[in-house]
Amino acid sequence: MEKKELICIGCPLGCMLSVEWENGLISCISGNNCRIGDDYARKEISNPTRILTTTVKVLDGTAPLVSVKTKTDIPKNKIFECLREIKSCTVKAPVHIGDVILEKAAGTDIPVIATKTVKKI
Ligand code: SF4
Repeated sequence: MEKKELICIGCPLGCMLSVEWENGLISCISGNNCRIGDDYARKEISNPTRILTTTVKVLDGTAPLVSVKTKTDIPKNKIFECLREIKSCTVKAPVHIGDVILEKAAGTDIPVIATKTVKKI
């Protein structure tokens, strides 16, 4: 039997969750105050994912950086690879909200998109 303690990130309450599982099958989740915590705990044990947010350098823009994020969650174990790819990116102004900055983040089908507009100088 394996056991892990988690803090739910579903809302600001941050419930302390406890998950027990064996051979990949979850036998007990406790500490959650709602279904979101249950879903979060199951996902954290089977396939943890996160939305990655960071910035990318901008050339000839009214700001030196533009904020970006993965369009959807990416596997947690792909985050550092994705950050390395994003770090090597530079975009030319203008950049608009929703522009695709990187088509396939870290070998996934998930794009990295701009979350801010940066005008050309
Ligand atoms: S279990 Fe529900 S109430 Fe508790 S932190 Fe998660 S989302 Fe919020």
